[in-house]
Amino acid sequence: MKYLFGPVPSRRLGISLGVDVVPYKVCSLNCIYCEVGKTTNLTIERKEYIPIDEVIDELNKYLNQQPELDFITFSGQGEPTLNSGLGKVIDFIKDNYSQYKVAVITNGTLFWDKEVRNEVKKADVLLPSLDAVSRITFLKINRPNKNLVIDKIIEGLIQLRKEFTGKIYLEIFFVPQLNDTKKELILLKETVQKIKPELVQLNTLDRPGTENWVKSVSKIKLEEIADFFKPIPVEVIAEAKTRKHIQSFNQNIADQILETIRRRPCTDNELAKILNLHLNELNKYISELIDNNRIEFDKRERGIFFRIKT
Ligand code: SF4
Repeated sequence: MKYLFGPVPSRRLGISLGVDVVPYKVCSLNCIYCEVGKTTNLTIERKEYIPIDEVIDELNKYLNQQPELDFITFSGQGEPTLNSGLGKVIDFIKDNYSQYKVAVITNGTLFWDKEVRNEVKKADVLLPSLDAVSRITFLKINRPNKNLVIDKIIEGLIQLRKEFTGKIYLEIFFVPQLNDTKKELILLKETVQKIKPELVQLNTLDRPGTENWVKSVSKIKLEEIADFFKPIPVEVIAEAKTRKHIQSFNQNIADQILETIRRRPCTDNELAKILNLHLNELNKYISELIDNNRIEFDKRERGIFFRIKT
């Protein structure tokens, strides 16, 4: 499969078939914490970065086998709403395979565009991000395309809420000293109350991001922030389901990763090539292996290297 990956054990969506509609690494942001790597095409131009008919063809073949899935999820190596054919694929799933729920994981930067809001309207769940409200913090954390303005992005999210009838789970990714300050938290809470998502999910780094200096916020701090956000429905993104509960967890893949890095430490890109896996699929296994203390990592000039934990 070229554009589909998984199904992967997703922390937020259970058993999730990934659909990737933009190539590495087309995004409207270049977040300091991005686990995929630096954005190489920092753009807000919408176009068919990946041929939509080919994506639909692949989906059709796969879904015909009636796989057991919790969600079909648009995510991947960049920002899915940048593909101008996103709406066409969602419509195809809902018209032909309505038994499956659709989720879109998005950085939420393009919902000021009516066209984008229309294209996602048949999805069941949207998972946009909003890490900052003040302009300076937005620039520091998300390093956006120069035409993006945070006030306009927030207006887009408020408008999306008014029109979208499915569920919105808003993710806030916390970086110490940047958006966990009292000032930014107050702004975030006020803004979330205007957007009115069903749920706010608090997240932080669990493995190295694009920038080496980015650290994670402690679990205790995240719990304090969750308290501060009340009565807004909020959760700290839970640990991945344990593997025995995840039907899609493929022990073979985990073993192959361990076997490969036992011979020599590798970066995620190298592992993806060696094992012929989509980077996102590989990343889910890496997170799981880190959570279970099986592997560790260190950052070197050529990237983040994973090795067996001794
Ligand atoms: S929006 Fe997502 S894919 Fe884009 S840079 Fe940020 S974390 Fe990475």
